[in-house]
Amino acid sequence: MSHEIGSPTTPEDSHATAPAAAPGRVVRLIRAQHTAEGDGFVVRRPFPTASLSHIDPFLLFDHMGPVTFEPGRGVGTPWHPHRGFETVTYLIEGDAEHHDSMGHQGFLHSGDTQWMTAGAGVLHREGPSTEAQRNGGHTHGLQLWVNLPAAEKMTAPAYQDLRADQNAQRAEPGATIRVIAGTLFGLVGPGRTRTPISYAHVTLAAGAVVSTTLPVDHAVLVYPMTGSFAVGSTHVDEGILSIIEGSTLSLTGVAGNSEVIVLTGQPLREPVARYGPFVMNTEAEIRQAYADFERGAFGVIPD
Ligand code: MN
Repeated sequence: MSHEIGSPTTPEDSHATAPAAAPGRVVRLIRAQHTAEGDGFVVRRPFPTASLSHIDPFLLFDHMGPVTFEPGRGVGTPWHPHRGFETVTYLIEGDAEHHDSMGHQGFLHSGDTQWMTAGAGVLHREGPSTEAQRNGGHTHGLQLWVNLPAAEKMTAPAYQDLRADQNAQRAEPGATIRVIAGTLFGLVGPGRTRTPISYAHVTLAAGAVVSTTLPVDHAVLVYPMTGSFAVGSTHVDEGILSIIEGSTLSLTGVAGNSEVIVLTGQPLREPVARYGPFVMNTEAEIRQAYADFERGAFGVIPD
């Protein structure tokens, strides 16, 4: 047994040198820019901007509203194509409607999520529901673009309509936690993701604290849709996207009730070639997407 004498590693040592939990800290703050989308509705967009094209695996982050519109004044996005990624629309409040050129229709109400895998291509329009257009209404939501890995960019289009009551949910003192996809706060959401992604919405009262472990090797984005929160001594206000590093995350409510989105995703680490509604890996694939669109491969706009 002499070979063990002086061995630098004992079971106790291994335990002692296991990585300690690293409390998440804010490493970057990104102020959303106001941008007019579609028929003219204004979104707050932390990215893409001239200085930040994407945060792998996320390609776009649009905070829509909150906006109240009069009868006949609700605006959406007219017919447009997508290829090579997913669009994830989460409505905190409102009624939205979606149509694609293949005849798929979707309706979203407060708390619902539409997880659309555009894959090889869809042609769609999206906006306030017909009823909200007619009667006036309210919209508050988030649209996220999630990149697809090269192997799945040309997958068949697919939809997941995730209803508010399907979300994994837990109430804690001063907080309500809902998980739409992946695992956060010990809850597993219903959304099926193509690569590891997690998506949570936390309603947080002033002084309340919620904590979660974070998935290893994920980009972690935390954004207050309303209100603000603190991570350690860093306060993050409405309209500012925070990037977090660490293995755990504790969020403290700062004032009033805040609506906070927590998003994590494993980077794809693949080349990104993007132009407008198409996100591929190479310029040749972008040219192919335009050629396919022009020859009607994404379907045709219904009458
Ligand atoms: Mn779209």
